[in-house]
Amino acid sequence: MKRRDFLKESLVFIAGAGISLSALEWLDPQELLASRPAVRWAFLVDTRKCVGCGFCVKACKIENDIPLDADVTRTWVERYVIRKNGEVVMDSPKGALHGFTTNGIDQNKSGILQVPNEEIAKAFFVPKLCNQCENPPCVQVCPVGATYQAADGVVLVDRTWCIGCGYCIMACPYGVRFFNPKLKVAEKCNFCYHRITKDMEPACVQACPFEARLIGNLKDPHDPVAESILKRRVGVLRDEYGTKPHAFYIDLSKEVR
Ligand code: SF4
Ligand code: SF4
Repeated sequence: MKRRDFLKESLVFIAGAGISLSALEWLDPQELLASRPAVRWAFLVDTRKCVGCGFCVKACKIENDIPLDADVTRTWVERYVIRKNGEVVMDSPKGALHGFTTNGIDQNKSGILQVPNEEIAKAFFVPKLCNQCENPPCVQVCPVGATYQAADGVVLVDRTWCIGCGYCIMACPYGVRFFNPKLKVAEKCNFCYHRITKDMEPACVQACPFEARLIGNLKDPHDPVAESILKRRVGVLRDEYGTKPHAFYIDLSKEVR
């Protein structure tokens, strides 16, 4: 498809379908394609496709050398169970490293909660990761410039500069940052930067058997993931913070925080 046609189609669709403003009020396809450099990485999660197997979580830990038994992870999967009375219960045992193998909802100290099938209105899984925000508060608070945003939008941590003060961990409204248990520096998902800059998919994307996780370049008019983000009704997490997250979600339920 020619760039002009892509833009035209995108804009017609956007105008007609009333796409979630959370993403598209600040994502202008024309501005995106005109701006430089030619890459802006974005992630697309399809919550309809995730089955909660946890393959992505394990693949990420192995790829990025985060100990499997550590209670920290660059990406995780949450399970949501919405009761017919509107009550929301959720869990993510070990970040779903081993997947969700029982119906019991892990309520930590309160034990395992069983929600009878007849009380369930809907249930689904939601993968989480760093949003590579366009306005990242984690970058703003770093006193030594150890965390910064690359020109392609990915927020990175320079481990040699990080002093481990933890300000960025407190500043991230999505809770995606943690201390690397081995290196004692700030750690988070970076879309597997060492892979995507060599034309490889992030480990979690490669590991997902159901294509619930995808990555794309928003500035490439021929990129099917970018096209999907710009044409579909996609949501983002906590857009009220003005962070302009670049992890987009298909079918994001309002209960997800
Ligand atoms: S999700 Fe958190 S760590 Fe990632 S860029 Fe946004 S504020 Fe920073
Ligand atoms: S690998 Fe895919 S289907 Fe399995 S939990 Fe991760 S995102 Fe969901």
